[in-house]
Amino acid sequence: MNKISIVGAGRVGESAAQFIAGNDLCREIALIDVREGAAEGAALDIQEVAPLCQFDTRLYGGSDYTLLKDSNMVVITAGLPRKPGMSRSDLLESNVAIIDTVLEGVHKYAPDSMLLFVSNPVDVLTYHAFIQTGWPRNRIFGQAGVLDSSRMASFIAMETGYSTQDINTMVLGGHGDTMVPIMRYTTISGIPISHFLSQAKLDEIVERTRNGGAEILALRQNSSAYGAPAASVAEMVDAIVHNRKRILPTVVVLEGEYGLSGIAIGVPAVLGINGMEKVISLDMNDEETALFHNSAALVKKDIGLLKQTS
Ligand code: NAD
Repeated sequence: MNKISIVGAGRVGESAAQFIAGNDLCREIALIDVREGAAEGAALDIQEVAPLCQFDTRLYGGSDYTLLKDSNMVVITAGLPRKPGMSRSDLLESNVAIIDTVLEGVHKYAPDSMLLFVSNPVDVLTYHAFIQTGWPRNRIFGQAGVLDSSRMASFIAMETGYSTQDINTMVLGGHGDTMVPIMRYTTISGIPISHFLSQAKLDEIVERTRNGGAEILALRQNSSAYGAPAASVAEMVDAIVHNRKRILPTVVVLEGEYGLSGIAIGVPAVLGINGMEKVISLDMNDEETALFHNSAALVKKDIGLLKQTS
């Protein structure tokens, strides 16, 4: 991939640029932010890391959307983050206005790119962009489940002491308190997680995963999480750039899968050079189906509010 732009050079955007450049995932990164100097400064700071960490990506930044020109992918991290006590849905009204500005820029200068959404509420904003642009869904998707799954794998590693390399987790549904960690698909080296941890401990881990973002925000107070979210973005970018056909939990616009349409929500999807190439339809038991549909109902409720604000 030649060029990736990142709109929003705040904590997640800057950190994502570091991971993407540090892993040499593209030749150029443009950082764009409305705060004068912020994106330019962040780009220069990361550029000066190149001789130390040995990457060849060229970075530049500014506040002008013309910098989006020739982007193969645009990562969207522009928007307000949560403050302690807020839910992701509380950000909807402010962030939809910001995303509309970003979409105008994308429409003008990067009409053939892919959009990877991070700004919250990510499921609702991904769906909004799908409707606003009219682009096919393989080019518009969002990051949530890679982060939530990584959080859950971290908690399992902390509890069992086993390597994170062998832990497989799958968190689906909306990116909020109703996210759906699928325990039947959670394994350590292919061995079901129930072999290692009691149901009570697993319930605690699920709860901690659901509150993963809020836990960090409550501790830091003036910043929500950004390291793991940015690394999750880079993981998805890596899968696409290298055409790996990885199956990652991705915020996808559904077209009948899981019995749903008119929504974007986290499901397993194949990521490759064409973006979101395929939705994987999982067999879910009654309990998982109920949790997933409960989560979907809340995302749909926010999508309904969106129609009223735009
Ligand atoms: P931040 O405040 O550090 O950065 C946001 C940046 O967006 C700011 O620098 C701001 O100036 C910029 N911005 C605002 N309007 C803009 C516009 N029209 N064009 C360009 N830039 C604009 O916030 P953050 O911690 O980096 O979080 C960014 C977003 O990502 C938030 O909405 C947050 O909730 C979300 N987030 C999502 C996940 C996820 O897993 N999906 C994880 C973490 C954070």
